[in-house]
Amino acid sequence: ETLDKGLEKSKTSFFDKLGKAVAGKSTVDTDVLDDLEDVLISSDVGVATTVKIIDRIEARVARDKYLGTSELDGILREEIAGLMSEVNHGDATEFTIPETDGPYVIMIVGVNGVGKTTTIGKLAYQLKKAGKKVVLGAGDTFRAAAVDQLDIWAQRVGVEIVKQDMGSDPASVAFDTLQSAVAQNADVVLLDTAGRLHNKINLMNELSKVKRVMQKIIPNAPHDVMLVLDGSTGQNAFEQAKQFTATTEVSSLAVTKLDGTAKGGVVIGISDQFQIPVRYIGVGEGVEDLQVFNKVEFVDSFFN
Ligand code: GDP
Repeated sequence: ETLDKGLEKSKTSFFDKLGKAVAGKSTVDTDVLDDLEDVLISSDVGVATTVKIIDRIEARVARDKYLGTSELDGILREEIAGLMSEVNHGDATEFTIPETDGPYVIMIVGVNGVGKTTTIGKLAYQLKKAGKKVVLGAGDTFRAAAVDQLDIWAQRVGVEIVKQDMGSDPASVAFDTLQSAVAQNADVVLLDTAGRLHNKINLMNELSKVKRVMQKIIPNAPHDVMLVLDGSTGQNAFEQAKQFTATTEVSSLAVTKLDGTAKGGVVIGISDQFQIPVRYIGVGEGVEDLQVFNKVEFVDSFFN
């Protein structure tokens, strides 16, 4: 229900646009497909995924000979759900983390401003609520504000935070964080990192050093590298996904700010194009405004 509310803007606008595209037409013809293409692209599904969806619908038109526009909603839903299923396995609705021997380590990456700190805070809150012992690592030592903000979240949520002075080595913070998490028998580590993309080589080196150092304490850490993307930035989000996946092994996505955008289609395009599962979506600034991504719910709320 919160998800429906959070995604209100995306869904109203997609549905409205789709309605307009097919108004007065009874069958799916080239015109309708062209309009549909426009609607998908303007909803930030991205060109490649849009083309894929249009191709699939064209194939169905060819196969079924006659396809009514009244059926288009259902068919689109099926095709998009199909795309989402290819990458977003499972249909979790609860905040859980896999069982590991020792703390489960999530390294969070993403550029500044996308909602990285907020997502870490919300996730810490949800995991704590689910009975997990959470430790935060303030690995974005590049900006004083980043450490302060994370500290505020840690206090607000009531979880441990490991931090050092601004400018200190992020790998050293990561080391301290894991050491402390192991000593405390923590279940989850959420490690923040600096989101500098202007120097790709530096970022790459920094992230691999952070990983290397963590593995001295927990051999297969990080268990998850989660890229945070701002869902309201459309093509920028695609570009960041491209850059980060080229820089480090991203294993999951969190897409934020889906409450304030008519462009929720970015979730569809990005998970399809990068074949990385979306794990969480942000639907507001509050502590409760993080949802476990559920593809069925997402597709439903996008169209309903
Ligand atoms: P960071 O620089 O990536 O760590 O970004 P922050 O976590 O500081 O977030 C930047 C701004 O986006 C803050 O004002 C947050 O409150 C806001 N924000 C984060 N996630 C969401 C979301 O899901 N919805 C909305 N509406 N705002 C968000």
